[in-house]
Amino acid sequence: MTPPRILALDFDGVVCDGRPEYFETAWQAYVAAWPPPALTTGRPDAIAARFSALRPLIESGWEMPLLVHALLAGVGDDALKDRHAWLKAAPGLMKAAGVSAETLGRALNRVRDEWFARDSGSWLAHHRFYPGLAGQMVSLLDSPTHVVIVTTKAERFVRSLLTAERPRLAEITVIGREPGKPVPKSDILRRLADRDGLGPDAADLWFVEDMLETLDATAERADLAGARLFLADWGYNTPYDRARLKSGGRIALLPLPRFATPLDTWPD
Ligand SMILES: [Mg+2]
Repeated sequence: MTPPRILALDFDGVVCDGRPEYFETAWQAYVAAWPPPALTTGRPDAIAARFSALRPLIESGWEMPLLVHALLAGVGDDALKDRHAWLKAAPGLMKAAGVSAETLGRALNRVRDEWFARDSGSWLAHHRFYPGLAGQMVSLLDSPTHVVIVTTKAERFVRSLLTAERPRLAEITVIGREPGKPVPKSDILRRLADRDGLGPDAADLWFVEDMLETLDATAERADLAGARLFLADWGYNTPYDRARLKSGGRIALLPLPRFATPLDTWPD
């Protein structure tokens, strides 16, 4: 297998585990923004552990303080069994408390911005790069493969994390969240393919992502039909997601130790 021209990587749950930061930020946003009576008598360790385990449910910032509330309020397992059930339960939880997704999302962004501005060292220390990721990215800087991070996180946060991990990772291209309406990752991948002169089906582009929904949406695009898609088995997905991948299907399961191996040995 020839290594690709473009290796596109999601960031959270692929390059970096930000769950300690997610929980801290979500907790503080919940305390700041949830209408009284907020259920904030304490912060049991069990809530942090369940929050981390349920991270695959979450896509957007506003869902994070809402998940803290759901755990404190003892919302049943049925509502937390998968992303579909969670998104169905979420509006009722917000309506009962008289709070909106916009309010929760703004609170979350404010907590994160203020924490980063006040003490970026502590903020950075609440993240961990997955083993082998930084080394492989650095070695690919000296190869014909162009590594690009495609993420819904703001670019400046990703840049700070990369540079703090290894100074040379400052050279990596980062496509972060842009102001305004979110742009689907599949659109960004197609743009990258155009910019590097790839063909109409984007063969020569590989994409590693931990959210199966995003890979499914990418797999449906005719103009990305040649791209190779990998589900990161170490990221924020569930055994159920991983079991859904069919052998010989469009999306391959990539185990963490394989990421650091030469690209021409990655699974089909
Ligand atoms: Mg991710």
